[in-house]
Amino acid sequence: MEQGYRRVRHRQAAGFATLAAMDYCFAPPVMPSLPVIGSEQRFPIRRVFCIGRNYAEHAREMGTTTGTGRPMFFCKPADAVVSDGADVPYPSLTDELHHEVEMVLALAGGGSNIPAHRATALIFGYGVGLDLTRRDLQRELKAKGHPWEIAKSFDHSAPISALRQAADATVTGQTVLRLSVNGKRRQQAPLGEMTHGVPQIIAALSTLFALKAGDLIFTGTPAGVAALQRGDLVHAELVGVATLDTRIV
Ligand code: MN
Repeated sequence: MEQGYRRVRHRQAAGFATLAAMDYCFAPPVMPSLPVIGSEQRFPIRRVFCIGRNYAEHAREMGTTTGTGRPMFFCKPADAVVSDGADVPYPSLTDELHHEVEMVLALAGGGSNIPAHRATALIFGYGVGLDLTRRDLQRELKAKGHPWEIAKSFDHSAPISALRQAADATVTGQTVLRLSVNGKRRQQAPLGEMTHGVPQIIAALSTLFALKAGDLIFTGTPAGVAALQRGDLVHAELVGVATLDTRIV
C-alpha cells in the first residue's frame, strides 16, 4: 500500500496529472446514477441524506413527535440506490421490512451554511423514493440507544424514480406524495404536511455537511408505513412529477 502511494506521488511529481486505471489496486466501482426524465444524461450520485420524523402523523404512529429543534438526519450509501423498475431483494436479518414513501431532492450545487432563501436554486430535480427500513431492528437499536445504521443503510435500501428536472417540475405544498402496494393505497399526504420545508431541510443539512452537486436528500415520510412481503408490487408517486415501481423479491 505504502509503495503504491509512493509510486503515485512520484508520478504526480513527474507531471502525471491524472491516475490511469492501472494505478488502482482493483477496478474502481461504477458511479451510481439515476436517469433524468427527457434527457440522455444521468445524474451521478454523490451521497444520500435522509431526514427523519418530518411529518407529524408519521412521528405519532412511531410513538414520538417531530420535535421542535434541529431536524434529525441520517445517511444511506450511494450504491444502496435502486433504479425504477428494478427488483429489491428482501434484506437479511429482518421480518419487518417497512416502506416509507418520500420526495427526493437532487442537488446541482451545494455549499455550507446555505441560507434558506438560496436553497431551492441548488435543486437539480425531484424524484420519489422509498426509505426502506428494517423496522424490527430499528426498534431494537432505538431501545439500546445504538445508531440506526443497520436498520436504514443496507444494500438496496433506497429505490428512487427517474428525476424530473426542476425547470420542468411544479412542486408545491399541494403536491401529493402517495404509495400503493399491490394496487391498495397505504400512504398519501400533500407535501404541505412536512414539518421542515424544502429550503429549511437544505439549509439545516448544510450546517452539518458541505453539500455538493450529486447529493440526494430524502425529505421524510407521511403516516401509513407498513410491512412489505416478497412478491409485493410497490407503486410510489409524487403526483405530476415522478413515479417509481418496484417489486420485493
Ligand atoms: Mn424516512
